[in-house]
Amino acid sequence: MNSALDAIICIDAGGSITVWNPQAEKLFGWKFEEVKGKQLTETIIPPQYRILHQEGMRNYHATGIGPVLNRVTEITALNRSGKEFPIELVVVPVHQNGSLFFCAFLRDITERKLAEEQQKRHAEELAQKNKELEHFVYMASHDLQEPLRTTSSFVELLRQQYAGKLDAHADKYITFIVEAADRMRVLIDDLLNYSRIGRKTTLVPVDCNVLLKEVLADLNNAIQDNEATILSGELPLLNGYATELKLLFQNLISNSIKFRQKDQPPQVEITATKERSTWTFAFKDSGIGIELHQQDKIFILFQRLHSRSEYEGTGIGLAHCKKIVELHGGKIWVESIPGKGSTFYFTIQEY
Ligand code: ADP
Repeated sequence: MNSALDAIICIDAGGSITVWNPQAEKLFGWKFEEVKGKQLTETIIPPQYRILHQEGMRNYHATGIGPVLNRVTEITALNRSGKEFPIELVVVPVHQNGSLFFCAFLRDITERKLAEEQQKRHAEELAQKNKELEHFVYMASHDLQEPLRTTSSFVELLRQQYAGKLDAHADKYITFIVEAADRMRVLIDDLLNYSRIGRKTTLVPVDCNVLLKEVLADLNNAIQDNEATILSGELPLLNGYATELKLLFQNLISNSIKFRQKDQPPQVEITATKERSTWTFAFKDSGIGIELHQQDKIFILFQRLHSRSEYEGTGIGLAHCKKIVELHGGKIWVESIPGKGSTFYFTIQEY
């Protein structure tokens, strides 16, 4: 007891203090001699809880039932200088030589509580900022559509009515503008879709085996054209957002086909393993792989590692995947050996 890291305090059946170890002296400021024989209500129990404590003791003596006994409880305690602070404690009844004692093992949790509060505040602030940001992305992309539509349609008119009538340079410039406007439309659509993920969706039971079949049917052309092999183990039934999960599977598989090795048909292996209540999915491919220093970057919005002439795309696929996985309370990451292949992992909580 003298060297215990927790404060240990024992009281007898009448509530008088009988044990008060050095850690209790340090925590509360009273020496054992000062509190020996005193009641807890005269020392560490704050005034507002004193009646409750007395009733609890009386109740235990009458019924043998003590709801706060033998389990971890968080309460407020009082020290010698009158300061209240949070503690956690376990109280156990001890029967010794026909007498009843209660022993409490307790520790100061002020710092933990502060950290928890700070963490909670931080998470709330972050959630609020994210919401604002998403709203901004939605509004911005929505409002950008209108001027872009006007630009596109007038350039299209220009092309239809003046192609071949201006000089060759002008025709080329018009083509560039049309192409750039098309790309911009795709980017804006991507952004809008990104900001819509998780809006107005409800959790439903999703059989990932069925989901995979649907995705493979949708990707049939790409699979056939590339002679891709997609293998899968038994996948779980989850409570999730169906449309979003489908998009997640689709993005990962189509990337594995797109970023294939030139000289061998792509192969994708999909498995899921469960540890406690968390499922970890693995999408393993035999593609070109990703350098270690770029493995975090690829999940950022519009980040790409290749030019459009090498591989088509806007760089939003994996940002979508990240948002979808996080919507389900999970994480996504990649492990890869350049030139050999990549495995994309994500976790989803089983609800
Ligand atoms: P996009 O496919 O439109 O380029 P993504 O966000 O889906 O955008 O992917 C971002 C980048 O990550 C890709 O440009 C590519 O360089 C890399 N990448 C994604 N999936 C794979 C994969 N399976 N194998 C190799 N590289 C990949």
